[in-house]
Amino acid sequence: MPRADYVTCKSCDRSVEECGPLSHQRLCADCAIFLVAENAAGIALKQGPAYQRWRLGMVARVLPRELVAELFNAGAFAEPRDAA
Ligand SMILES: [Zn+2]
Repeated sequence: MPRADYVTCKSCDRSVEECGPLSHQRLCADCAIFLVAENAAGIALKQGPAYQRWRLGMVARVLPRELVAELFNAGAFAEPRDAA
């Protein structure tokens, strides 16, 4: 549902006049579609921040919160290139 009080897209900074109504998360339609596709591709290819959030969510479903926080702080959910 679009929000009338938002005036610029938080992703591309275009105004409502340029890009049309903005979503509840302050995204234009172009950026919202791009982000959905980027997240789906990241999960499918097992890389990127969307995949890391998915992994964290899966682990959080089965392990106690304290252990998940400890693993997160130890960098267990960081991408390999970030660990270096
Ligand atoms: Zn946008």
